Amino acid sequence: ADKARIAAASGPGHTADGTPVHLLVNIGTVDDAAKAGPVDSEGVGLFRTEFMYLGKTSAPSLDEQTASYTAVLEQFAGRRVVVRTLDAGSDKPLPFLDLGTEENPALGVRGLRIGTVFPETLATQLTALARAGEATGADLWVMAPMVATADEAAGFAALARESGLTKVGAMIEIPAAALRAADLLAHLDFVSIGTNDLSQYTCAVDRMAGGLAQLLDPWQPAVLDLIAMVGAAGAAAGKSVGVCGEAASDPTLAPVLVGLGVTSLSMSVPALPAVRAALAAVDRQRCQDAADAACAARNPQAGRAAVAAIIGRA
Ligand code: PEP
Ligand code: MG
Repeated sequence: ADKARIAAASGPGHTADGTPVHLLVNIGTVDDAAKAGPVDSEGVGLFRTEFMYLGKTSAPSLDEQTASYTAVLEQFAGRRVVVRTLDAGSDKPLPFLDLGTEENPALGVRGLRIGTVFPETLATQLTALARAGEATGADLWVMAPMVATADEAAGFAALARESGLTKVGAMIEIPAAALRAADLLAHLDFVSIGTNDLSQYTCAVDRMAGGLAQLLDPWQPAVLDLIAMVGAAGAAAGKSVGVCGEAASDPTLAPVLVGLGVTSLSMSVPALPAVRAALAAVDRQRCQDAADAACAARNPQAGRAAVAAIIGRA
C-alpha cells in the first residue's frame, strides 16, 4: 500500500489539508539539469555551481559561466531555480582559487568568505547569473553559502541587487546565522537551511567523519531547535524558508520540518516521490505535533520513534 501511495503521488507538494510545501531538486551540473528538467518538481532548490568547476585550473570566464547558467535555467522555464554562488574551500576546493593551506579549512575561508579574498570572482558570477536570468524564462533566485552575520547578508544582497538580481537569499548553515535569522532576513528575500553544514557546526563534528554519524544527525534536537528559530523568523517576515541539505530527503523528517516552519524542501531526484507522499498523508496539525515531539526528544532515535508513531509510519 505504501508503494502504491508513493507511486500515485504527483504535482506540487502539499500537506493533507492543502498547505503548500514546494518540492524542489538539487543539481550541480548542466547534465544534472537536463535530467532533472522533465522531472515532476517545482524547480531547483539548490544548484551547487562549484560542481561545474571542481576540476578547473583557471577561473571560468563571464561568457563561459553565462552559457552554462543559461543552459541550466532553460530547463526550468516558468519554475523556480535557486542558484548558490560558489561554495569553494574546505570540502569543495577549487584549484583556480588559491587559498593557501589552512589548519582548519572548515572554519577558514570558504563559501561567501571567498568573495572577500577574490571579489572579482563573485562579481563575475553574479553578472553571469543576471545575464542568464534575463535570457531565460526561469524564476531565478540567488543565494550565498556560509553566511554567518547580518552584515554579510546585507553585503551580499547589495552586490547581487547591483548586478540586477531581484530574488536574493542566504543559506543558513552556521548556528550564528540561525540564531540571528530575523536580522539576516531583514536584508534578504529568502533563506535556505543547509542541514549538512548546520549539523557539522552545531555539534562540532567533521561532516566527512563517518565514525561520528550520531552527532551529525539532523534529528539532533539542538539542530531542530535552530531550524525552528529560522522557521519562526521566516514566518514572522512572511519569507520563504527552505531546507536543501540531506535532511530534506527523509520522509519521516519532512512533516517535522514543515511543523517547524519550513516552506520548501530540496532533494535528490529519487527522494521526491516518498517525501511528496509523506506530506500528502499528514495535516498541518500533525506536522506541528511531530515537530513538538522531535524537539522534545532526548536524542535522534527517540525523536524518530516518537514522530513515526504520530504520523503513522512503521
Ligand atoms: C548543506 O550544507 O547542507 C548544503 C546543502 O550544502 P553543501 O552540502 O553543498 O555544503
Ligand atoms: Mg553547506
